[in-house]
Amino acid sequence: MDCELLLDDLNDAQREAVTAPDGAVLVLAGAGSGKTRVLTRRIAWVMATDDLPPERVLAVTFTNKAAAEMRSRLERLLGRPAGPLWIGTFHGLTHRLLRIHTEAARLPAGFQILDSDDQARLLRRIVRELGYDEKRWPARQIANIIYRTKDEGHKLGELEHGNAPYERDLAHILAAYEKTCERAGLVDFSELLLRTTRLLLEQPDIAAHYQARFRHLLVDEFQDTNTIQYLWLRALAGKTIQPFVVGDDDQSIYGWRGARIENVQRLQHDFAPVRVVRLEQNYRSSGNILNAANALIAKNSERLGKTLWTAGAPGAPIELYAASDDRDEAAHAVARIERWVHEGGSNEDAVILYRANAQSRVFEETFMARGIPYRVYGGLRFFERAEIKDTLAYLRLVTRREDDAAFERIVNLPARGIGARTLETLRATARQENISLWQAAVRANTVLGTRANHALAGFIELIERLSAGVTSRLADTGATPGALGEAIEYMITASGLDAHYRRPDDEQAESRLENLAELVSAASEFIAEPELSPLTAFLAQAALEAGDTQAGDESNAVKLMTLHAAKGLEFPLVLITGLEEGLFPHQKSIDTPRGLEEERRLFYVGMTRTRAQLVLSYAEQRRLHGQLHYARPSRFLLELPPEAITQAGPRRLSPGVSNPASPAIRLGRRVRHRSFGEGVVLEQQGNGAHLRIKVAFENGGTKWLVAALARLEPIA
Ligand code: ATP
Ligand code: MG
Repeated sequence: MDCELLLDDLNDAQREAVTAPDGAVLVLAGAGSGKTRVLTRRIAWVMATDDLPPERVLAVTFTNKAAAEMRSRLERLLGRPAGPLWIGTFHGLTHRLLRIHTEAARLPAGFQILDSDDQARLLRRIVRELGYDEKRWPARQIANIIYRTKDEGHKLGELEHGNAPYERDLAHILAAYEKTCERAGLVDFSELLLRTTRLLLEQPDIAAHYQARFRHLLVDEFQDTNTIQYLWLRALAGKTIQPFVVGDDDQSIYGWRGARIENVQRLQHDFAPVRVVRLEQNYRSSGNILNAANALIAKNSERLGKTLWTAGAPGAPIELYAASDDRDEAAHAVARIERWVHEGGSNEDAVILYRANAQSRVFEETFMARGIPYRVYGGLRFFERAEIKDTLAYLRLVTRREDDAAFERIVNLPARGIGARTLETLRATARQENISLWQAAVRANTVLGTRANHALAGFIELIERLSAGVTSRLADTGATPGALGEAIEYMITASGLDAHYRRPDDEQAESRLENLAELVSAASEFIAEPELSPLTAFLAQAALEAGDTQAGDESNAVKLMTLHAAKGLEFPLVLITGLEEGLFPHQKSIDTPRGLEEERRLFYVGMTRTRAQLVLSYAEQRRLHGQLHYARPSRFLLELPPEAITQAGPRRLSPGVSNPASPAIRLGRRVRHRSFGEGVVLEQQGNGAHLRIKVAFENGGTKWLVAALARLEPIA
C-alpha cells in the first residue's frame, strides 16, 4: 500500500509521532487532539513500512469496545485483516498470557476469573467462617485492601502487618482468601496483572520470548494506568521494546482506583531517552466549548500544562438548564433531543452523561414513556444479571469442579432440597480437609442424613450429565462458534434453569428469558483467541466484559452512561446532567483539593466529548437512593466563562444566590421566621427584590415568602 496515504490527513506534529524512528515515544496532548488516531496510524505505519506481520504488535486500549473499534479502523486502513494482532485491555491481554502459560504461572488448567460480585460473596463467607463480625469487616472494604495491595505490585502475603488485633485479623482473612482462590483456581482482576508481571520477571525465558515476538507495544489513555499495569508494561518491554504511549494528564480520572499520573515521569526515566510529542490542535469540539473547557481545567493546579486550540468555528453556545427536580431535568433532556432530531439530527448522536449510575433510572423512565429508544452503558451490566450469572456458574462448574464460587451459587438453584445446614456441613468438611466443596459433596454420604445425601447425589449426577452433554456438543462440531451457542442452550434447558425462570409468578420472567436467549446468541457469535478453548474463553470474556458492550441494538438509540465510561468517545450532542454540589463534584471527593481536581478533570472529560452541542443541567431537588436532596448548582458551573453559556428554564444561575461560598439562603437550608418559627427552604424563584422563597415550617404549614420582607434567619 502507499504509505504516504497514511499521513495525508495528519498535521505535522501528528505525523512526527506516527513516523518517529525507533525509540520510546510519549504523546502528551489534550482532548480531541488526535491521540487515538495517531496511535492507530502508528500501528498501520509500522506494519506498512517495515512490512511487519500483525502478530508483532501489541496494543492496549481502555475498553474492549475501544479495542474492537481500533482493530476495525486498522483493517480499513490496511485493507486486510489484522487477525493475529494483540489488542485489548490490560485485563484481557494478561488473561491471555496466563492461559498460555498456565503451568508456569502455577495456575490449574481451566482457572477462572473471580469477578467483583463473586469476590464479595467469597469474602463474606470467609469472614463468617473465621467467626469475625461481618459488620466490622464489610466485603467491599476487604476487597479494596486486596486491590490496593495488588495494584501497587505486592502479593497479599507480602503485606506487612503489625501485632494489633485489627491487623492480625486482616492477615487471617487475606490468607484464607488466598488459599481459597488458590484451591478453587480463581484469579481476581488485579491478580491477572500481578501474576503475569511476576511471571515475566521470574522467568526470563518467557519474557525473552515476547520481547523477540513483539516489536511494538502501544498504550492509549496512558494517564490512567496504575502501578501494576506500568510494571507489567515494563516487564514485558524489558530492554528490547520501546513503548509508544499516548495520554493526557488533564483527563486522569481514575486516581481513586489507583491510577498514577507519576507513570508519565517513570516512563521518561525508565525508557530514556523518550521522544515527547505534543499535539495542540483540537479537531473535535467547536471553539466555544473548547474555550470553556480550557478555562475550567485552568483552575487545576496540578497540571503538566499544555495548549489546545481549534481552527473550527465558535459554534453554538453551551446551554444551561436549571431544572426544578430530576424529573424536570429528564423531561428537558428528552425535549432537547427531540428538537435535535427535528432539526435533522438523530437519536444516535446524543449521549446523556451522569456522575452516578443511579441517575439513569429517571431518564430511562422518561425515554420509555416517550417511546424513544435508548441504551444504558454500564450500570447493571449484562453479564452481571442474576440469570446470566446462574447460567455461567453452571458452565464454570461443568468446566471445573473445584470452582467453589460457582458451586455455592447453583447447588440449590433451582431448589432441590439442599439447605443451609447441608451447605454448612460441606463448607466445614472442605475447610478441614482442604478440599473443594465439590469433593466434599462427593464424600458427603458419611456425614449427612439420607434426604440431604439424596439431594446432593442428584446434583452431582446432574453436573456430570451436563458436563458430558456440553463436551460432546463442543467436540461434535469442532470449534465452530455455533457449537458453543448450542451447548449453552442445551445446558440452560437440561439444568432446569429454563423452567425455573419460566415461573408465571416472576414478573421479570420475560426479560430473564430474553437475556438467556441473548446469551446464547452472544455465544454463537463468539470467536475465541486461537490458543483458548471456546468455552473457557467465553467465560473469561464474561468476567472481563468491562460494561462497555451490552446486548441489544445500538442503532437509533440515545446513549446513557457515566462520565467515566465516556472517556475517549465523542458525540455530536452531549448532555451533562446532575451538576450539583455533592453529586458533581461528588460528596466523597469534595473535601480534598486532590479529589476536587479529579472531579474537575472528569467534568473536563465530559465537556470535551462534544462535537457540536453541549447541554448542561442541574436540579434543585433530586430523589436519589430513595432520599430527597436539595442541592446547590455545582461550583464548576461558576467556573465556566459566562459568555460561553446561554441559560434556559424558569430559573437562572446567578453567582449571588448560588455561589457555594455565599451565605445566602439556600435550598435545603434551615431558617427561622419571627412568627412562623423554624423550617426548611424548599424552592426559590426570581432574584433580587423579587426573590421568593418557599419554606416548609415545622408547625406544618408551607409558605411562599418574599425574601426581602420576610427576614428569614439562617440557622445551623
Ligand atoms: P481523547 O483525548 O478524547 O481521547 P484524542 O486525542 O484521542 O481524544 P481522537 O479521538 O484521536 O483524539 O481525535 C478526535 C477527533 O478528531 C476524531 O474525530 C478524529 O478523527 C479527528 N481528527 C484527529 N486528527 C485529525 C486531523 N489531522 N484532521 C482531521 N480530523 C482529525
Ligand atoms: Mg483518545
